[in-house]
Amino acid sequence: MDLFEYQARDLFAKHGVPVLDGEVIETPEAAAAIAERFGGRAVIKAQVKVGGRGKAGGVKLASDPEDAVAKAGAILGMDIKGHTVHKVMLAQTADIKEEYYVSFLLDRTNRTFLAMASVEGGMDIEEVAATKPEALAKVPVDANEGVTPEKAAEIVAAAKFPAEIAEQAAEVLQTLWKTFVAEDALLVEVNPLVKSGEGKLIAIDGKVSLDENAEFRQPEMESLVDHAAANPLEAAAKAKNLNYVKLDGEVGIIGNGAGLVMSTLDVVAYAGENHGGVKPANFLDIGGGASAEVMANGLEIILGDADVKSVFVNVFGGITACDAVANGIVQALALLEEKGEQVTKPLVVRLDGNNAELGRKILTDANHPLVEQVDTMDGAADRAAELANQK
Ligand code: GDP
Ligand code: MN
Repeated sequence: MDLFEYQARDLFAKHGVPVLDGEVIETPEAAAAIAERFGGRAVIKAQVKVGGRGKAGGVKLASDPEDAVAKAGAILGMDIKGHTVHKVMLAQTADIKEEYYVSFLLDRTNRTFLAMASVEGGMDIEEVAATKPEALAKVPVDANEGVTPEKAAEIVAAAKFPAEIAEQAAEVLQTLWKTFVAEDALLVEVNPLVKSGEGKLIAIDGKVSLDENAEFRQPEMESLVDHAAANPLEAAAKAKNLNYVKLDGEVGIIGNGAGLVMSTLDVVAYAGENHGGVKPANFLDIGGGASAEVMANGLEIILGDADVKSVFVNVFGGITACDAVANGIVQALALLEEKGEQVTKPLVVRLDGNNAELGRKILTDANHPLVEQVDTMDGAADRAAELANQK
């Protein structure tokens, strides 16, 4: 989960990474009092989860409170790379002499953590990496040892930070590492880390990405979620503990097992080529124990998606046998109808594996008008795509 800059700034402040005072607002008028408090001058910064705001006009310097209101007004509502600006941060201005770059991240390829640092900060670090790789130091960080004073000194030396700020830079790296570990981050990045006129290092811009797998031990993570940006169907699925991802197409998909669902998406997309180009509308893995309740929850989410025209339920019976799944489907449809939710979209069901015969018989006997069975995965995908295209 990526955070907004102001949230990253708060976490930096909490762990002792040097930052300037800042405050978030949603209306231009609110800028005046804050600029006043900062002594008149302020930097106005668009809060969007995308880089390169400066170049896009989303970072502006205001010289007095009136100017701050005007510039906040200009930035609020702006579109930056497809992200609408709903909030701006007012920050104290810095007297910038140099701009550096530092970050810690999870390096999956090398199965370790990685420190990156450069004296060429400020601009796009991907560009530095591409055009001047020697200017971007990369130092592995052992998970158990972390960033000791020695490791920090090693990073500082590798990045060739100037001697007069070497000690401060080592300090910043250690506090930044503390942030990374304590917050269960996958990335903490400061760009730029600036040297001020007084020779002080200050984190001017921060990017933090948190590991959602650690949510259970990070009680404050929930409060950082941008609910306004979340897809309502994905939010509803999450509340029901379902493994659901919304996609662009028309064929709703339910399957058991992530691998089976992934291949179902492929097969449906392929079948769709013969049926007006319809595509999968979602990913939904109901897992191993497909109880009636889980099936009902899954169907409810998918049938609630206005884009969905047909549903493909693709189940391979394993430990949970097909008869249990078939009963789950029958009960789920009854449950939904009891709740007053009209099921109006056709369902194509393919059951295979453990107790497939019995499962198919249960569905045949139930004789639900919207449920159709097809024995093969390819055949069922084709039928589901055909039905979606007819709607
Ligand atoms: P980004 O473009 O999204 O990475 O946004 P940044 O927060 O990094 O800002 C872009 C650039 O604006 C920085 O590299 C600085 O050069 C400049 N900038 C940001 N804050 C200040 C400030 O307080 N004073 C001055 N003079 N420049 C600033
Ligand atoms: Mn930046």
